[in-house]
Amino acid sequence: MLRLFLITLIFSSLNTATFGSETPIVSVRVGKSLRNILVTGLDLKRHLFFNNDVKTYTGKKTVKFNCETFTTLNKQRNKPILLATLESPTGLLSYGNDKYQGMFKVITNAKGDSCDIVNEIPMEAYISSLLTKEMNPKWPIEALKAQAVAARTYALNKIRTQQVTKELGNEAYYDLESSEKHQVGGNFFDATESTNSASIGTTGEVLTTASGKIEPIFFNAKCGGRTLRPDQVWHNKEEGYQSVNCPFCHNIGPKAWSNSITRERLKSFFLWASDQGYIKEQLSGDLSSIVLVPDDIDKFTVNFYINDRPFIIEKAVLRKFFGRFIFPSNTFSLKKYGEGITASGEGLGHGVGLCQMGAYAMAMRGWSYKKILSHYFPGHVLKKLY
Ligand SMILES: [Zn+2]
Repeated sequence: MLRLFLITLIFSSLNTATFGSETPIVSVRVGKSLRNILVTGLDLKRHLFFNNDVKTYTGKKTVKFNCETFTTLNKQRNKPILLATLESPTGLLSYGNDKYQGMFKVITNAKGDSCDIVNEIPMEAYISSLLTKEMNPKWPIEALKAQAVAARTYALNKIRTQQVTKELGNEAYYDLESSEKHQVGGNFFDATESTNSASIGTTGEVLTTASGKIEPIFFNAKCGGRTLRPDQVWHNKEEGYQSVNCPFCHNIGPKAWSNSITRERLKSFFLWASDQGYIKEQLSGDLSSIVLVPDDIDKFTVNFYINDRPFIIEKAVLRKFFGRFIFPSNTFSLKKYGEGITASGEGLGHGVGLCQMGAYAMAMRGWSYKKILSHYFPGHVLKKLY
């Protein structure tokens, strides 16, 4: 716990000038809302915190936590409690079908009705196994290195800002989820020689803003021709982001897409957008006339006349309402189609930050990871923190 406390202390006062030389530890939630937890390892050391009981098991051992028996502990305090830690001197722990390095923490979840399991792992090991999940270990090393820097920056920002703790309003005991909400981490066997080289080859390197801050660095599967700024998709302004052309990803990955939307669905969309405040003027149920103004794939917004009054809609809002199946990406144009419209676009994902298919194509052409990163993040600076 002292180590954890010290790490928290380091990150809470982190700036790029004073950061120490040690590798940060990342706490990743790998399982949540569990009734039981089974962890297996060799010569396991198990520390139960509620009675301060430390036990070492010789040989291979599976330790089971029945979470329902622990949850009564949570009645007094409406926040997670650290129940136990598990470590193995061999460094490998099995949970579910996966093997993990580092340490496990078992905590009660915020509601107190089940347990979560958190893996504490050195940053570079985390990045190496993540590359297999978030990219492809068979891709060229320079693309993997660019992804490693992006993912490391993303994780360090989460640690430093303690965003998870802020969202839960209490101690969270973890920095990131292993899910699409944050970034998908891997397990020990996901790491390969190539992902290890990419991680170790960029040890401690992050992208900072021009003023030296570690802000979130985003990545997407395929931008479809041009990347977007965070504010064009989620309304959050992030320093340094620019929308850049990406002629690299056109012929790689998912093909261009096209989907139709009926007039009735379009009506529902406008009423929802008005309700949610995405349209300045309040719309009532009577939308007798909806006319689309000719659109272009390069535009981030689209214009409509509704009952003869002009309205501007951000394209990302359409994707938010209709979902990823109708709008696989935010790079598209709309056309009138009968009574409804057709959306035709390119790409896969939100389109913000590093374009993974583009990075692949650049690396195949011999671009270095530094050149790839400076293309997608021209307003950011590559810095080695440790
Ligand atoms: Zn692209």
